[in-house]
Amino acid sequence: MLDFVRLEADLGQEERMIRDTAREFVDEHVKPDIGEHFENGTFPKELISKMGDLGFYAPNLEGYGSPNVSETAYGLLMQELEAGDSGLRSMASVQGALVMYPIRAYGSDEQKVEWLPAMGRGEAIGCFGLTEPEHGSNPSAMETYAERDSDGYVLNGTKTWITNSPIADVAIVWARDRSSEDEPVRGFLVETDRDGVSTNEITEKLSLRASITGEIALTDVRVPEENVLPGVSGMKGPLSCLTQARYGIAWGAVGAARDCFEEARRYAKDRDQFGGPIGRFQLQQRKLAEMGTQITLAQLLAHRLAELKERGEMRPQHVSMAKRNNVRTARDQSRIAREMLGGNGITTDYSPMRHMANMETVYTYEGTHDIHTLILGEEFTGIPAYQ
Ligand code: FAD
Repeated sequence: MLDFVRLEADLGQEERMIRDTAREFVDEHVKPDIGEHFENGTFPKELISKMGDLGFYAPNLEGYGSPNVSETAYGLLMQELEAGDSGLRSMASVQGALVMYPIRAYGSDEQKVEWLPAMGRGEAIGCFGLTEPEHGSNPSAMETYAERDSDGYVLNGTKTWITNSPIADVAIVWARDRSSEDEPVRGFLVETDRDGVSTNEITEKLSLRASITGEIALTDVRVPEENVLPGVSGMKGPLSCLTQARYGIAWGAVGAARDCFEEARRYAKDRDQFGGPIGRFQLQQRKLAEMGTQITLAQLLAHRLAELKERGEMRPQHVSMAKRNNVRTARDQSRIAREMLGGNGITTDYSPMRHMANMETVYTYEGTHDIHTLILGEEFTGIPAYQ
């Protein structure tokens, strides 16, 4: 496996163990039929509880069944899962960083006890409803709202592009609370079997096909007061979750890129043309040299980000740079790897084109590449250029 500047030589025992467990899991349970799932547009649901048994959901959290592993260990886990498929990593990211994290950070003790252990084991599935049909890059313009009724709230609105919503037991829905004058955004735990909730699947995807995506339509959905996340109010709630998930993506993208590199390297040595392996041609070697270099730079950024996170010094802008760079690397390099595989490269028998297609989603969700560019632009000039 590509680890050219020996970053993994410094891993601790627990970090190695988590990396190896995830790598073996992907080799044994994901790689054999992920191409078929991608073709069929299905997610390997039987892996949800297996991933829970192996502790893949938010192991970097503390308490309520989570072991509080290092941020590097968590990053390595995301890297190995996404070397399998971005759909698999998305499952773990949504469950861990977008649902368990806000419950842990902002939930009541009752909410933590009810949801965290079950979600950690993969017995309950969560989803994160922020994006709306008319509001993607600018979620603060959301229209979904909550109004007070006698003993709780009534929710109305539509969320779309929600990973896992059709199979979720609970959705964290971000909505404007009309009971306060300034209508702050608040997080509501909405069980998907409540009256007025529907979660139609979006099936026309050409990217992230081995992942379930849907809407959350809310028509006069009543939730009790106890379902509100009490510890946060305003856009800080959803944005802080996105920082956690983007951290995992910065690592995960490295895994997808590395898998493409390894596939291309193998192919270059095995495939004969003009009387010998194509890997002997300088044009092919140049591609591998560039791919190996770009992936190594992405690995360096991911490992440094983990150090900053561990020390409590990671800022959202650091995560923007790493998400933006590492996903772009994976997107660009998966295409080069695909090219090196010739005609075989366009099939699901090999991973690069599947990763390449997935990267269109990863480049777009959790803040598009453009939006992260603007975040960095603001960081370096002090001038926000969003509007
Ligand atoms: P838009 O915001 O309409 O952007 C369109 C284009 O305009 C983009 O290229 C964008 O970069 C550009 N643009 C927008 N604003 C600016 C600007 N100020 N300056 C320059 N360019 C700009 N959301 C969830 O809440 N939960 C999920 O679980 C989830 N899962 C997803 C799964 C999939 C498969 C996909 C595709 C999306 C998912 N999303 C999810 C939604 C995702 O986060 C949004 O698609 C994303 O935020 C972009 O929003 P949009 O699609 O509305 O694009």
